[in-house]
Amino acid sequence: MPEPIRLIELAARSVADLGGVGDKREKALAKTGITTVLDLLTHYPRRYLDRTRQSTIEALEPGEEATLLATIGSVESRRTRQGKVMVTARISDASGSAKLVFFNQPWRQRQLVNGDQVLVFGKLESFWGGLQLTNPVVDPVGDKVGRIIPVYPQSPKAGVTSWELCEHTAEALRRISGPRARGLDDPLPADLLAELGLIGRQEAFEGIHRPESLGQAASARKRLVFDELLRIQLSLVRAKRELEASSTGIEHLVGPALPSDRPDLVHAFTERLEFALTGAQERCVAEILEDLAKASPMHRLLQGDVGAGKTVVALSAMLAGVQGGFQGALMAPTEVLAEQHHLGVSALLDDMVVEDPLTLLGERELRVALLTSRLKASDRRKILLDLAAGTIDIVVGTHALIQDAVTFSRLGVAVIDEQHRFGVEQRDALRHRGPDGRAPDVLVMTATPIPRTAAMTVYGDLDVSVLDELPPGRTPIVTSWAQGEMEEALVWDRVRQAVARGERAYVVCPLVEMSDALEVRSAEETHEELTGGELSGLRLGLLHGRMSSDDKEEVMTLFRRGDIDVLVATTVIEVGVDVPEASVMVILDADRFGIAQLHQLRGRVGRGAAESECHLVTRLDLEGTDEELSSDARERLTALVRSTDGFELAEVDLDLRGEGTIMGERQKGINDLKLASLRRDRETVAKAREVAIELLDRPEGLGGLESLVAEVDWFLSEDSDYLMKG
Ligand code: ADP
Ligand code: MG
Repeated sequence: MPEPIRLIELAARSVADLGGVGDKREKALAKTGITTVLDLLTHYPRRYLDRTRQSTIEALEPGEEATLLATIGSVESRRTRQGKVMVTARISDASGSAKLVFFNQPWRQRQLVNGDQVLVFGKLESFWGGLQLTNPVVDPVGDKVGRIIPVYPQSPKAGVTSWELCEHTAEALRRISGPRARGLDDPLPADLLAELGLIGRQEAFEGIHRPESLGQAASARKRLVFDELLRIQLSLVRAKRELEASSTGIEHLVGPALPSDRPDLVHAFTERLEFALTGAQERCVAEILEDLAKASPMHRLLQGDVGAGKTVVALSAMLAGVQGGFQGALMAPTEVLAEQHHLGVSALLDDMVVEDPLTLLGERELRVALLTSRLKASDRRKILLDLAAGTIDIVVGTHALIQDAVTFSRLGVAVIDEQHRFGVEQRDALRHRGPDGRAPDVLVMTATPIPRTAAMTVYGDLDVSVLDELPPGRTPIVTSWAQGEMEEALVWDRVRQAVARGERAYVVCPLVEMSDALEVRSAEETHEELTGGELSGLRLGLLHGRMSSDDKEEVMTLFRRGDIDVLVATTVIEVGVDVPEASVMVILDADRFGIAQLHQLRGRVGRGAAESECHLVTRLDLEGTDEELSSDARERLTALVRSTDGFELAEVDLDLRGEGTIMGERQKGINDLKLASLRRDRETVAKAREVAIELLDRPEGLGGLESLVAEVDWFLSEDSDYLMKG
């Protein structure tokens, strides 16, 4: 018996090898993104027409969908008042008659011939007392009776019809599984499939392209979805295991392992806080300390909503390193944030004392430093020297921290804030800065909660801790949506009232996609308009990404001190900016922002004792027909008004946007998700991760599963042709 064909072998087979594919068709298929047989087989139907449900006109209830075998009567064409072409045709069978209506399909008049028998597929509607089918599918009576017809996604310009795709796919499947063919390899063991209730792979490809029932198509989809998700999970979990095995970490001295003559900084730090840790903070700190004590390096994600108190957790992690003589580094995505973290961290650690890691003789004050690219050259040199010498315990900075010139004496714990702003490479860059070849422990923090199953995929190579509890005593932020000029005017009143109470406000200007320059201009204009108009008399400041660092810092300082009442800004304030006295957030043209971004922006207020409010302003002329808010935008804004829970919002976001955007460019396996949806297939994501872990945990690992390994490597390798096209 020859070996069955492996799926990835089909990536080396051109569609031109198939019968019925000539030069012209080959080119047309290529335009649809199909060049190999694998491309063809993974070009899945978008939906199916169920031609097995054949009915008569009389038996069909309005609202039901079915195929009718009927004879065409009179055909007419006319223009509607809107100038559209409308073709109508009577059809009848032995039981009764109905009307077909086609809009914008003038060619129907030629297609539909009085007296012809045809198959009509569509939904029956009762309309003005008569029965009608609008824009149904009409086919000549042929071999399509009584079958499930797949409908393929197609680009009209490419010139390949769904029906043709159907035929090519059938031909490909005949070559693979027909008589005398080798059959398609199944990379998963039969017992595993049985346990999971999944059908075989060959059956799945047959079933998705040529189902005999919709149930069969569903089982086929289930199997193929599982395969896609399993490949991703296997690659992620395997990468995680390899990382753990290949690098030696540091066994930090925490808890009882810490010699009694060394100060327990983690404990001392918690003691000196003016508040008690939340249960979630305690749990996350414990999870982290446990990782730190282990010999393998930590790769952990800390997910926590805005204001959940991630900084305290991050500091505990760094102090656990410092108390054993190591250094901590905290990397933030922007200078504003790094500076702010530096201020915050310095205040929290003021006067703390450490054992001098160099001499181990006597104590000295714990030293925190700031490293950004805008330091004066001489200051920067000094900090680099001290970092290399080990007299700085904790350094806060931007990506300036991972430049070549930076050498740490003993980097033990690295924290990366707001991970989504950094690439994986930058995260890795810190991993290689540990002492004597050992990898520091890495904690990645994100304030963009994402649903659990999405996290498994996007951050599948990390362990995850979740801060799912806000510190007590927060007054929830009241969010409202101001539509149109009248309501907007009231918003500016609210701003004035807050300022009169001694509080401060942010005004975030419209997001201008793709253009920094336009975004800056819109901020400048808004600043000018408000200064001369709605907010005249108040002290307004302007902050945007194109300002020099010094100017930015100056504005932030003035705002923090209260010398500016209202900060007009672009989204540079999206993350981390922390001014407790700010109690009003106004977001202009809020419909242009995504849910996560709005939630982040809103998180800039509600950080102090004052009751806070967030106003989402939309300015579109809602009466105009062309400029109505999209229903998605409405749903986003309504969700924001309804909920302040980042995790709940993340679910809404996933529902509205699908996974593509959540995954972003971060996850290379995303392009392999042709069928699976992180949204609809949540349970399968979890199952696939479970199976991936189970398989990798077997004593033989993936041994014996060579074709599965080959497939994972192939689908997920960066340079796979498959990915480039995806
Ligand atoms: P984020 O998770 O957004 O980074 P921060 O760490 O900036 O949140 O914390 C937000 C605010 O909450 C800070 O002012 C911080 O001092 C305060 N905070 C953190 N933990 C607690 C707690 N357990 N109890 C009360 N306030 C806390
Ligand atoms: Mg933060």
